[in-house]
Amino acid sequence: MTTSNDRPVAVVTGASSGIGAATARQLANQGFHVVLGARRTELTEKIAAEIDGTALPLDVTDRDSVRGFVDYTAELGARLLVNNAGGAKGLAPVADADEEQWRWMWETNVIGTLRLTKGLLPALVESGDGHIITVTSVAALEPYDNGAGYTGAKHAQAMLHRTLRGELLGQPIRLTEIAPGLVETEFSLVRFDGDAAKADQVYAGLTPLTARDVAEVIGFAASRPPHVNLDTIVLKPRDQASASRAHRRQ
Ligand code: NAP
Repeated sequence: MTTSNDRPVAVVTGASSGIGAATARQLANQGFHVVLGARRTELTEKIAAEIDGTALPLDVTDRDSVRGFVDYTAELGARLLVNNAGGAKGLAPVADADEEQWRWMWETNVIGTLRLTKGLLPALVESGDGHIITVTSVAALEPYDNGAGYTGAKHAQAMLHRTLRGELLGQPIRLTEIAPGLVETEFSLVRFDGDAAKADQVYAGLTPLTARDVAEVIGFAASRPPHVNLDTIVLKPRDQASASRAHRRQ
């Protein structure tokens, strides 16, 4: 099993849509052989064909799926891992919390990131210039009303990532946390279970970030020389001041 040439290998989880898909394209433009992981392989296969990458099935909540994905990818010699798969389900006060939604958010954002990171760590160290980029959120920086399931999961995912910065000190691995604010992707559609009108309201009256805006920042972090570690990058639309405060035009 080999890559199609000698390009360094970047692994992007959740690469079938939104930030992950844009990141796969961005990194391919920067010379990486990109391995795209997601459940909707019909989407990742199309992108992989466009960018001469590799699409593999991946469900981060399924241990066997992660094992197969990691085994294949580690053998290719991964140098960059972008932990991007994740999302939110629901927007409800703690008093009305839905345990299944909380479990989904925890398993996808937190345990998923743990599994991929643990699985690919040996290959990343072995590369001699490894890099783990984790897409958390402004929800990993502060609470907001009705968002505790998501903010809790994103805080936990961020703690996992930030802890590695100390634990891996002295190893050839960089760690970058990307914390975006409002980005218009399938995120809100997933959060509101396919309700497009509700999803549209999230971005109404303001100019949100695009997936490409975030991907370009990820590409910038990935293209610094090996001794430069961009620790945390928070990016928000100009119209957004915090997780719960945005300016909306009529
Ligand atoms: P998106 O368009 O919904 O993309 C989410 C991606 O995660 C999809 O590719 C999806 O692929 C994948 N995914 C979900 N569950 C998965 C699973 N069990 N196994 C493997 N892949 C899974 O949303 P996005 O905005 O690009 O989200 C990307 C990341 O950015 C997430 O971690 C999200 O929390 C974070 N984020 C988003 C925003 C925002 O405003 N959009 C802001 C801050 C942070 P499949 O469904 O094909 O598996």
